Amino acid sequence: SSNKHDKDKGVNVQVILRCRPLSDDEIRVRTPVVISCNEHRREVSAVQNIANKQIDRTFAFDKVFGPNSQQKDLFNQAISPIVNEVLEGYNCTIFAYGQTGTGKTYTMEGGGRKAKNGEFPSDAGVIPRSVRQIFEILEAQLAEYSMKVTFLELYNEEITDLLAPDESKFTFPDDKSKKPIALMEDGKGAVFVRGLEEEIVSSASEIYKILDKGSAKRRTAETLLNKQSSRSHSIFSITIHIKECTPEGEEMIKCGKLNLVDLAGSENISRSGAKDGRAREAGEINKSLLTLGRVINALVEHSGHIPYRDSKLTRLLRDSLGGKTKTCIIATVSPSIHCLEETLSTLDYAHRAK
Ligand code: ADP
Ligand code: MG
Repeated sequence: SSNKHDKDKGVNVQVILRCRPLSDDEIRVRTPVVISCNEHRREVSAVQNIANKQIDRTFAFDKVFGPNSQQKDLFNQAISPIVNEVLEGYNCTIFAYGQTGTGKTYTMEGGGRKAKNGEFPSDAGVIPRSVRQIFEILEAQLAEYSMKVTFLELYNEEITDLLAPDESKFTFPDDKSKKPIALMEDGKGAVFVRGLEEEIVSSASEIYKILDKGSAKRRTAETLLNKQSSRSHSIFSITIHIKECTPEGEEMIKCGKLNLVDLAGSENISRSGAKDGRAREAGEINKSLLTLGRVINALVEHSGHIPYRDSKLTRLLRDSLGGKTKTCIIATVSPSIHCLEETLSTLDYAHRAK
């Protein structure tokens, strides 16, 4: 067929690379920079020359965003077209992948600047910008639609509902009284989460409030649990049903879904050999991140077997990975010499997903 998705093999998985700027503290202590970004050539190089150790490697991506890139540039150039696909009835997923402290949450949620006199903050990330675009388009089309959102966290292969009322399902992972929310499969292989809160929404501001509520829960857990969030995946999903009329006057419902995923810190992958009490935890985090890598690899290579079933993350996202879907991985790295080893492993992981 002349379908564009058949023509461009692998075009349904896009990998972009973003390098954050040095922090003020890093600048103060004159941290050497070992990463250079060539946005025009869509290449990233890691260069380090020390007498006994020389590194000089270059990686190509679908898009590259250097340390000076603004939130709106990344959104307009890489994400906005995907949001349009969601409104055309596609299931799409955007992942942030990278070492803790490299800007996954900054990229997905934003820098925390508040809106001033109704103005959208310039450091708002992918999630609020996607929400804004969705409502702008729906309103311009005068479309009849319904929309619902879910927000969950996956930690140790266990699901926590970030939208659950305070007194009920939200507990901490070590709390034995907690009833884990179950991942269920219907007879046809479709996956759903039993007991997950679904909030019906009808405006962007409603979603922003829900996001704030969920992120606050995530941060509380992070403080209480010694940075849990660096080891957990969060998935914010928006499902939209749009009523349409065919030229023949027939009514049709178009359904699209957007998953926005802030993955656990990728440094957890290299801790797989840990022998301490965290071994299980490291292994489980590993499982989801490694399986995600394998699933994306299999999709890109058009291999027959896609190992969705090997982790909860990939089971959860099954209906949005592969087939008639779009996937975008935003790999985030630090420019600092002290992160070079992790940066190289992120570049390798992300590069293999291409
Ligand atoms: P992660 O979620 O990957 O652990 P964060 O998003 O929390 O990392 O980012 C770590 C710090 O770096 C935060 O203070 C964040 O505001 C800052 N930061 C990250 N990326 C950028 C960027 N592209 N521009 C400016 N500051 C950034
Ligand atoms: Mg984070």
